[in-house]
Amino acid sequence: MKSTPNAHLMLSVTTLAGWPSTWSITFTSPRPAKAPILHDEFVSSEMNRITFNQLKLVEAALAGIESGDYGQCRNCGTTISPKRLKAVPWAKYCIACEEHMSQASELAEVGQQVA
Ligand SMILES: [Zn+2]
Repeated sequence: MKSTPNAHLMLSVTTLAGWPSTWSITFTSPRPAKAPILHDEFVSSEMNRITFNQLKLVEAALAGIESGDYGQCRNCGTTISPKRLKAVPWAKYCIACEEHMSQASELAEVGQQVA
């Protein structure tokens, strides 16, 4: 393969992104032909991850129905509002706790970016 500035750039990008060395990008034309495939694989794996997480939440909600604690906030123990459960039947936390946790995780992410 003839080394072009594009190929050199893509090699740097894959090294920086930590892609497995077994993944190769070959250039058959001036534009990277494999890029759309890698994007599709990424989207597919993200969709699988989201679906898997959703399934776990639904299973946890079903277990909550079995044990009788469905609809109770896992953090503070208050009853999650029926309106929230109608919108998000697998909700584990009341709105106040959910917002508090998402703010805390956002702050942690900012902290990691600054550190
Ligand atoms: Zn709560």
